[in-house]
Amino acid sequence: MSRVFDDKNYRSMAINREERAFQIPTDNNGKRKKIPQYFGENVFDFRKSDDISPAVRAALNEVVETGRPLTKEIAEEVARAVTKWATDNGATHYCHWFHPLTGGTAEKHDSFLSFSKHGVAIEKLGVDQLIQGEPDASSFPNGGARSTFEARGYTSWDISSPMFLIDGINGKTLYIPTAFVSFNGEALDIKIPLLRSIGKMDSVVTKFMNLVGHKEISKIIVTCGAEQEYFLVDREIYFKRPDLIMTGRTLQGKLSTKNQQLSDHYFGTIPNRVLAFMQELDFELHKLGFPAKTRHNEVAPGQFEIAPIFSEANLASDHNQLLMACIKKMALRHGFVALLHEKPFAGINGSGKHINWSLSDNVGRNLLDPGESPHNNYLFLSVMSIIVEAVYRHADLLRASVASHGNDHRLGGHEAPPSIISIYLGEALVRIFESIAAEQNLNPNERKVMDLQTSRLAHFFKDNSDRNRTSPFAFTGNKFEFRAVGSSQPIGLPLTILNAAVVEVFEESNLFIEKRLKEGKNAEEALIELIRKWYKSASAIIFNGDGYTQEWIREAEKRGLPNLRTSIDGIKILKDEARIKFLEKSGILSAGEIRGRYNVYVENLIKHLEIEASTLNTMLLQNIIPAGLEYKKILGKLVKQQKESEISASTERALLVKTAGLVDSIYLQHEKLESTLKEVLAKLSSGEAELCADLMAKEVMPQMKAIALECNKLEEIIPDAMWPLPKYSDLLFYK
Ligand code: ADP
Ligand code: MG
Repeated sequence: MSRVFDDKNYRSMAINREERAFQIPTDNNGKRKKIPQYFGENVFDFRKSDDISPAVRAALNEVVETGRPLTKEIAEEVARAVTKWATDNGATHYCHWFHPLTGGTAEKHDSFLSFSKHGVAIEKLGVDQLIQGEPDASSFPNGGARSTFEARGYTSWDISSPMFLIDGINGKTLYIPTAFVSFNGEALDIKIPLLRSIGKMDSVVTKFMNLVGHKEISKIIVTCGAEQEYFLVDREIYFKRPDLIMTGRTLQGKLSTKNQQLSDHYFGTIPNRVLAFMQELDFELHKLGFPAKTRHNEVAPGQFEIAPIFSEANLASDHNQLLMACIKKMALRHGFVALLHEKPFAGINGSGKHINWSLSDNVGRNLLDPGESPHNNYLFLSVMSIIVEAVYRHADLLRASVASHGNDHRLGGHEAPPSIISIYLGEALVRIFESIAAEQNLNPNERKVMDLQTSRLAHFFKDNSDRNRTSPFAFTGNKFEFRAVGSSQPIGLPLTILNAAVVEVFEESNLFIEKRLKEGKNAEEALIELIRKWYKSASAIIFNGDGYTQEWIREAEKRGLPNLRTSIDGIKILKDEARIKFLEKSGILSAGEIRGRYNVYVENLIKHLEIEASTLNTMLLQNIIPAGLEYKKILGKLVKQQKESEISASTERALLVKTAGLVDSIYLQHEKLESTLKEVLAKLSSGEAELCADLMAKEVMPQMKAIALECNKLEEIIPDAMWPLPKYSDLLFYK
């Protein structure tokens, strides 16, 4: 057997790998360039291009700011300018880049090659190619929106998200951010509903601001900063694990004796090779105009995080898709593979994506900034109360928006927020809301200075909102943080649902305020009434305690909060009449688009779990059971030999019995998994997709988990050199 006494040379390869240096650009004096000198270098900015006339620039600004339709003349000038810019900078190809419902990104490259009237080869991106592309819609998940024989779909240029150049070792490609629609105008992507929700938010909140006296407000922007967690595994070690290659997570693996018990990884010194990777990643991202800001070690060994400076939500969403692709690409360059899966390793923290979200206006005010005296900042308090009501009302849809096979391992696990959506506001704010609800006056809560008992350190204010890491939706000082989002998930859908929910309550609030104003009340009185109304209606969603405890699960049930434990429970919400009506009325998703998404998500769940179960079965037969048999063979021989020489063989016998028992039990469970999988998939063939997904979550997944535990026991007793797969200690610590 070839794998017996594996030389494990991937370990030495990993530890001997050199840090990779990259060419740091220098200026004319040979001095290293500073970030502002190359930030956005690979982005086409029409505001700065010399090839765009002032008139067209003004028109483009208006298209972006007000949504005024784009004319062909304007687009023509952009097409000419961007062709020149891209080809001058080394691009040979361009592509429409979009976000289909696969969760990834899609691109098809075309060269700039064209022919002039006289047959001479030239470089050109025509206006039609800039504005529109025509990918085959039937080859992307569409949830039944299109059948193969009528497969036409369109990509349409999103002028609000800048075009950019991606470097390849042998040339560059121009990426054009686009939206993806079907022939009859149904959104087949993540961007379109997001853009719709952003537009609605703008109009409804601008109206709100005007109503309550802020007449100067003409635009509202949804802001978002998405923190991204990921794992890095040495490339050599990664490619020895079929489960990582096929599914992005380990389907088996005994937890290493040291893992995260010592809390010594979080914010620890970044390992050299990882730092080299992060430095090059930041450099590439900055050139792409991605405002990379923070980098650090996360809680689990081998886990890291990157966070940008926040931006407008549509751009943040495109940027996060770009970020995920860049992390993967850069990791490979540095001899790593990046794992973006929500739960690559059992027993240690999984990865999430915290969506920081807020609203800001055209004079630069953050509507979620409490200011110096939050207790009488009625604008702030009313916006907060509106969001609280929105999340309360649509908690189940928000849960649905983060449903995925990967997130099922995380939500409700020990490090992640629970699958019950609740809001953390902090004691100070709750006290303010309580006093308003009870119509009492409140003594402003003095900001406390924290005394560190040493004069060497600057005294700082104790944050009014302390952190609560267990809350899925937490107020963190001047923004909300939606923490239930999965690390591999595009942020577009959760953002869309959150926006839709908030828009609905703003709309109702506008009517409420208009009525009060007509009755002769002033804006402040109207706002106070509004705050009282929403707080009284929705306070059940507020929970400042520990979201990981059993008591909270019971308490949440008493409060009537939905607890949609598995993703399929969440996805089913998309079939609920009231939810469909709400989304349809909002103008953000049509009934057909919701149905399409429901179908895609169910299908996705089934396919991913089928791949996982089949991969595990293959690993059992090809790697794990053979290792057990091999060890049995060796032990069996030993026992026989000892018996012949009349020496006691109690240790050998004990190990043999244990190994044999585990191998038998693993084999039996393998057979059971195989037949369960077959039965469950038969439901899909007979058209019962939802039942199939349900059974996948409730029968197949638990069986896989049980098998993994049994395999872990075998891994524990088999000699290291004989175990055919890299272990958690290899995956987490060899860098
Ligand atoms: P944390 O302690 O939660 O990691 P950070 O200060 O690192 O908080 O911020 C996390 C993210 O929140 C960053 O991406 C940051 O840009 C973003 N953020 C800050 N303010 C806002 C805002 N007003 N709207 C949206 N995102 C914001
Ligand atoms: Mg953070």
